[in-house]
Amino acid sequence: MTESLPTLLDRIDDILPQTQCRKCGYSGCRPYAEAIANREADINKCPPGGEEGIRELSNLLGVEFKPFGADVVLAPPSVAFIDENLCIGCTLCLQACPVDAISGASRQMHTIIAPLCTGCELCVAPCPVDCISMLPLPQEAPSRDKKHATAKAARERYQFRLERIERGKREKAEKLAQKERDAVKPAAAPTDAQALIHAALERARAQAAAVKPQNTERLTPAQQAQIAEIEARRAKIQEVAHPDTPIPKK
Ligand code: SF4
Ligand code: SF4
Ligand code: SF4
Repeated sequence: MTESLPTLLDRIDDILPQTQCRKCGYSGCRPYAEAIANREADINKCPPGGEEGIRELSNLLGVEFKPFGADVVLAPPSVAFIDENLCIGCTLCLQACPVDAISGASRQMHTIIAPLCTGCELCVAPCPVDCISMLPLPQEAPSRDKKHATAKAARERYQFRLERIERGKREKAEKLAQKERDAVKPAAAPTDAQALIHAALERARAQAAAVKPQNTERLTPAQQAQIAEIEARRAKIQEVAHPDTPIPKK
């Protein structure tokens, strides 16, 4: 099987650092790459990519280099650090980290997995006790290959996380739907419908016997004929509803 060639969008995305920090104003690197590919966004919106990133985009797209605007704050590379003495285990940072670089569980101390941390800072704001700080990393510039390898690994972790979240949502929705289906299920159908019909007929017969007039000897022939006709009709109904049940003799 031959691999498909990377699209322009893929090649733009490959240049972006994949921290998913949203400092470009988009919800992640891929959406920003899409905006660039559609010529809806300038190439100078990604601070973590630095000027080198702008240059790469400019070469790829054949557009003029454009420096960062005055409003862009360029921060040195950094890594998050949690003061474990203050952490209350609320998991908010864990939920905010786009690349699963934090380990911990509810009501337990959380820790940054430093080699996985991209320095995106997304975990800092949600922490209710301000126990996460960003520590500067050594300034030595990594090689282009190292940067791309780091970005590729971050992208893979990010995609894995998105898939996990989607799977969790699907499973939750399915459980909910199943619960709703169970709630509206009718009560168990009678297993022996014939037995139920028979029982109903028996009850009707008993009721009829209970109210049977005792003075039938004083009935006129017309009344007796009318009763006979009703009895015959009742017998017919019973015969159709339950052919196996013998019709009682009067
Ligand atoms: S790394 Fe750059 S492109 Fe990716 S989200 Fe951050 S600012 Fe946007
Ligand atoms: S640990 Fe914090 S700074 Fe590091 S990648 Fe995760 S959210 Fe970003
Ligand atoms: S957000 Fe802060 S308090 Fe909550 S788990 Fe993370 S580090 Fe601990």
